[in-house]
Amino acid sequence: MSEVLVLVDHAGGTVRKTTNEMLTIARKLGEPSAVFIGKLSDEATAALKKFGAAKIYAVDGGHVNPYIVAPKAEVLADLVKKTSPAAVLIASSAEGKEIAARLAVKTESGLITDAVDVAEGGVTTQSVFAGNYTVQAKVTKGTPIIAVKPNSATPEESEGAGAVEEITPEISDVAKGARIVGVEPKKSSGRPELNDAAIVVAGGRGTGGNFEPVEELADSLGAAVGASRAAVDSGWYPHSFQIGQTGKVVSPQLYIANGISGAIQHRAGMQTSKTIVAVNKDEEAPIFELVDFGVVGDLHSVLPKATEEINKR
Ligand code: FAD
Repeated sequence: MSEVLVLVDHAGGTVRKTTNEMLTIARKLGEPSAVFIGKLSDEATAALKKFGAAKIYAVDGGHVNPYIVAPKAEVLADLVKKTSPAAVLIASSAEGKEIAARLAVKTESGLITDAVDVAEGGVTTQSVFAGNYTVQAKVTKGTPIIAVKPNSATPEESEGAGAVEEITPEISDVAKGARIVGVEPKKSSGRPELNDAAIVVAGGRGTGGNFEPVEELADSLGAAVGASRAAVDSGWYPHSFQIGQTGKVVSPQLYIANGISGAIQHRAGMQTSKTIVAVNKDEEAPIFELVDFGVVGDLHSVLPKATEEINKR
């Protein structure tokens, strides 16, 4: 069975859920091999084995991590040459997409970004044109390079052998052209990151500027908070929380839109969510065209009731 390389998405050595999702997807395409760039700990090894990594390529982080993306693409290109994998999966983050693009050029391969599902045989469901269309696509040239959006699969455990192979790559001088000189962590709200969250609770102009019911519902569900552009433009929520064409594109398991009309530019950022719920007092609101469940009502009374019920459980 061919290998499928999965570039491990981790935060300071702790394996992120996105990696478990990619390892689960990789098992549909072949035998998953994790590529870990950084200092591989016993915990990370155990986490990768738990989700089916048959092999772990441990790449000496000291050589690679101080530099921006280019060396990571070189490491992967080298591994592609050595292993001829069935596919390479990379998290579809800003960094992941850049690595994927560089890798596709280096290996003369086709690239699919923002994949929200990958079926056996490599047919990929992809969100394109700022999320306005969802298409099925398949790479027909070289090694399929697929950038997978967070929450595209439910992680399923399956013990893998997890044989570790250590690699100390040679990095070209060209790839060493840009170096990270400082990292400043963002202040945390205690809620999950919008891009990674399994549940997103969003508020729009219908909140009238009061995001408290939205935030309380989000906290009862362990969800991230998002906002429409109307809410952001009104100064009610920071731009980093905006969802849509000119904001973030999210694809959670559950998206709850509150007081959001469902303009095309907002849909572009959330329509690939697995289950969509909307609360809107206008039963004709366009958001109801794409929901799985809709509540016609005032969010200021519906949300606190929902939060109360959830908190009881
Ligand atoms: P509205 O459209 O005003 O809708 C408010 C909704 O709240 C209504 O449906 C109303 O019935 C409902 N409501 C009111 N009171 C209540 C209540 N008490 N309880 C329940 N429901 C209530 N928009 C984005 O969101 N993201 C983007 O990235 C984005 N990019 C854009 C890029 C361009 C180039 C352009 C032109 C526009 C962009 N927009 C974007 C703006 C977009 O077109 C809409 O204007 C915006 O999404 C509307 O936000 P909204 O749904 O919160 O407000």
